Amino acid sequence: MTKFIIASNNKKKVEELDRILNPLGLCAVTAKSEGINLDEVEETGTTFAENALLKARAAFEKTGMPSVADDSGLMVDCLNGEPGVFSARYAGENANDEQRISKLLKNMQGVPTEKRTAHFVSSICCILDENTIITAEGKCDGVIATSPRGNSGFGYDPVFVANGDKTFAELSSEEKDELSHRGKALRQLYSKLDDILNNK
Ligand code: IMP
Repeated sequence: MTKFIIASNNKKKVEELDRILNPLGLCAVTAKSEGINLDEVEETGTTFAENALLKARAAFEKTGMPSVADDSGLMVDCLNGEPGVFSARYAGENANDEQRISKLLKNMQGVPTEKRTAHFVSSICCILDENTIITAEGKCDGVIATSPRGNSGFGYDPVFVANGDKTFAELSSEEKDELSHRGKALRQLYSKLDDILNNK
C-alpha cells in the first residue's frame, strides 16, 4: 500500500486526516514517524489552495514520498470572510484556540442569529510524484454560536454549528467527519486518487 506523508505538525489535524484516510485504504503517516523533521512552512499564499500546495511541496521535496497537505480555515460572512487564511493566526502567532474564539465572538458581538452564517473550507493538495498533483476542496456551511460549547475537536469547533443545535465540539469524531469540510475534501481526494492509481 502506498504510504502518504501528512504534511502537518498540527497533531489534532493529523489525527483527523489519518482517521478519514485510513478507512479509505490509504496509509497515512507523519514525517516524524519516518524519522524526518518537517520545517514549519511560511503560509504566504492568499488562498487555501496556494498554501496547501506550498505545504505539500515542501514535504514532498524533503521526504521524496507522496505527500498530502490540508490548508483550512473559517470564513465568517458578517466579517467579510475573515479570519479566512489567517484562521490559525487570528489572535496573533502564539495565541491559543480559546483566545482565537474569544476574539471572534467579540468581533461578532450583537450580530443576530440569521447574520451569523459562516463556512469552513478545506483545500487539500496531494503530490504523488513530480508530474502528478491532485487537488480537492470541501466546504461546510454553518453558523457561529454566541458562546463556546463542547470539548471535542480543535480550533473553532466549539462555536461552529453545522447542523441542528450541536457545535462541532459536541459531535463524535464520526459525526464531524461526515459533515466537515475536511471529510468532504478527503473523500473527493480519495475518488481522484482511486481513478489515478487504478488507471480508470
Ligand atoms: P492551517 O490550515 O494549519 O493553516 O490552520 C487552519 C486553522 O483553521 C486551524 O488552526 C483552526 O483554527 C481552523 N480550522 C481549520 N479546520 C478546522 C476544523 O475542522 N475545526 C475547527 N477549526 C478549524
